[in-house]
Amino acid sequence: MRPVQALLGASPACALLLALVFAGSMAAPGDVAARTHETVAKDARLAGDRTRTRFIADLSKKVGINVFSLGNPYRVIVDLPEVNFQMPRGLGTEQRGLVTGYRFGLFAPGKSRIVIDMSGPFLVDKAFVLDARQDQPARLVIDLVPTDRATFLAKLKAANSAAPTVGSITPPPPRVKPTRAKPVVVLDPGHGGIDPGTSSASGVTEKEVVVAFAKTLKHKLEAQGQYKVYLTREGDRFLALRERVAFAQSKGANLLVSIHADSFPKRPEDARGATVYTLSERASDDEAKELAAKENLSDAIAGVDLPDSDSVVANILIDLAQRETQNRSIVFAKSVVGEIDRADLHRKSLKSAGFRVLKSPDVPSVLIELGFLSNPDDEKRLTSERWRGAMADKLAAAIDGYFAKRVARNPF
Ligand code: ZN
Repeated sequence: MRPVQALLGASPACALLLALVFAGSMAAPGDVAARTHETVAKDARLAGDRTRTRFIADLSKKVGINVFSLGNPYRVIVDLPEVNFQMPRGLGTEQRGLVTGYRFGLFAPGKSRIVIDMSGPFLVDKAFVLDARQDQPARLVIDLVPTDRATFLAKLKAANSAAPTVGSITPPPPRVKPTRAKPVVVLDPGHGGIDPGTSSASGVTEKEVVVAFAKTLKHKLEAQGQYKVYLTREGDRFLALRERVAFAQSKGANLLVSIHADSFPKRPEDARGATVYTLSERASDDEAKELAAKENLSDAIAGVDLPDSDSVVANILIDLAQRETQNRSIVFAKSVVGEIDRADLHRKSLKSAGFRVLKSPDVPSVLIELGFLSNPDDEKRLTSERWRGAMADKLAAAIDGYFAKRVARNPF
C-alpha cells in the first residue's frame, strides 16, 4: 500500500478547514522569518474514546500540516515543517481510544513528522492547527473515528490516486565509480530522528548510543589514515533502510557496518553482550528472525511505506555476485567476533537473518548489535565513553584484519 493524502471524512466543512490551514500558514520557501523563529512542540496528549479519539499537540506557533493515512499497520502520518520537539520524556506510550501510541521527530532536513499508531481501520475526521491565543499555545488537532476495513481501503485508494507521490522517500543516488587508493568504510548508526530504536528502562535510546559509537569508530579509523570513512547519519535524523544501502553504494563502499543495540526486557539479566549479524534468507534462529523483523520495522515506524521486503531479500540471494559479497560479509563478521573479548559477546555471537539494511548486492555488509539496553550492565557499557573507545578499537582491528587479507588477494 502506498502513502496517500489525508483520509478526510466526507464533511466539506472539514476539508475546507484543512485547506485554510494550508493556505494561511505554510511558510513560503526562503521565508527568513519562518526559518529564524523555530517552532517548538512542548507537549501532546490524547482525549476521547473509541468512538472518537483526539490527538492534540501544543506548538509555539501555527504551522502548515500534511496528514495522510497508511494501512498495514494502521497509522496516521502528520508531516510538519521542522519542529523542535521538547516533549516530556516517555511521551507517546499512552493508549487511548483508537490510538495505541505515537512518536515524533525529524524525518528529513526541514521536515518533521508525527506518526500515530491506530488499533484498527479509521478515518481522519478533522485535522487542523489553531492559532495561539492569550495564554494558550497553538494547537495541532487530529480527530480520528473508526470505520470498517473496506471503507478504509476505498478511501486510501481514492486518496492514493489523487496524490501518488506523497510520503515517498528520495530515490537512491546513482552509484559513483570511485577512483581511490583507500578502502571505503561506511558506518551506519541505526534509527534516528522519529525512530528512536529500542530503549533502556531509564530511557536511554538506541539511536543516541549507536551514533555516539559510530562517531568514535570513525575517528579511530580516520586516525589510522588507511580508510575513507563515511557515516550514514551524524545527527539525530531519520534515514529509510534503503537510503542507507543506497548511501553505501553511492560512496563506492567496500564495507558497510550497521550499528545497533538490542533489548530483551522479558529476561534483562540473560540477554547481554554483542552479536554480529549477516544477511540470510532463512534466519539462523527464532531470536535472529524476530530481531530482523524488529529492525526492519524502522521504515514503518517512521511512516515510510515500502513493498514487502522478504521477496527482495530472496531474489538478491539468488544472484551469484551476491554470494561472493555474502562470503566476504561472513569473513568480516567472523573477524569481528574474533576480536571482541568473550566477556563482551552474546553467548551466540554470530547469527544471520533477513535484515533489509544488509541487502546491498555488491557491498559486504554486517549488522552489529553492540549489546542489550535492557541489561543494566550492558546499558552502563553502552553509555560509557571509555567502553565505546575500547570496543571501537576492537572493531577497527577487525576491519584492519579484513582488509589486510583482501589487499593481499588484490581487490578489497
Ligand atoms: Zn536497531
